[in-house]
Amino acid sequence: MDNLIVYIFIFILGCAIGSFLNVVIYRVPLGKSIISPPSSCPKCGAKIKPWHNIPILSWIILGGKCANCKEPISIRYPIIEFLGGLLAVIIYMKFQKIDIWFAINLAVFYTLFALSIIDLDYKAVPDSLNLLALTLAFFSSADILQNIKNALLMMGLLSLIRFYVSYVIKKEALGEGDIIVAGTMGALIGLKPSLIAIFIASLIAIFPSLYIRIKNKDLELPFVPFLALATFIVWYFKDYFLYIWSILYE
Ligand SMILES: [Zn+2]
Repeated sequence: MDNLIVYIFIFILGCAIGSFLNVVIYRVPLGKSIISPPSSCPKCGAKIKPWHNIPILSWIILGGKCANCKEPISIRYPIIEFLGGLLAVIIYMKFQKIDIWFAINLAVFYTLFALSIIDLDYKAVPDSLNLLALTLAFFSSADILQNIKNALLMMGLLSLIRFYVSYVIKKEALGEGDIIVAGTMGALIGLKPSLIAIFIASLIAIFPSLYIRIKNKDLELPFVPFLALATFIVWYFKDYFLYIWSILYE
């Protein structure tokens, strides 16, 4: 029972952070402050009252409309709040306690989550958030020097691949943003797991890229969401993936 209360607490906390992420995702790419002014309806400008700002619930109670002008509010907002709660719960399942490592890992994944949504929206990610994730990832476990070393190696590896591939296909392959994300991955999960995660990210990305090809749509596929998702999967099941790696290569 106590355990259930902890999980509910973590979920609510995560939803509240998800609500803040909505602000970050909306404002950071526009170069606006994330602290002030308080949230307002993008349509009518009415300030959102605190009791209309309860994650998920307010959206449902207000029927997905602004309380003032009745303009529809995207379902994306409560979804991001829910995913924020889910993320906190899953990360807590891994740590089973609330300590500094839990907090830092959570912060790294929240930042990667925000970066993923921004990349979906803009096909580019802001350096401010990207470097924040990288810096936090340096401190995501006790061996900080090793984390930094892993970050440098991953960034170096991806830069190298970028040089070669860009030369061969004669256009820019991989964004600079992807290279910083690779650094975050290296620092957060280590070298082998990062390579596994890049492999998994590429596998997952095949399906939407095939879809774009077949539909002949002129869309650019963002890669950060795939990298972030794969990093999360490999982070959670790290021992399992390292075991498979050892069977295959050692
Ligand atoms: Zn409104």
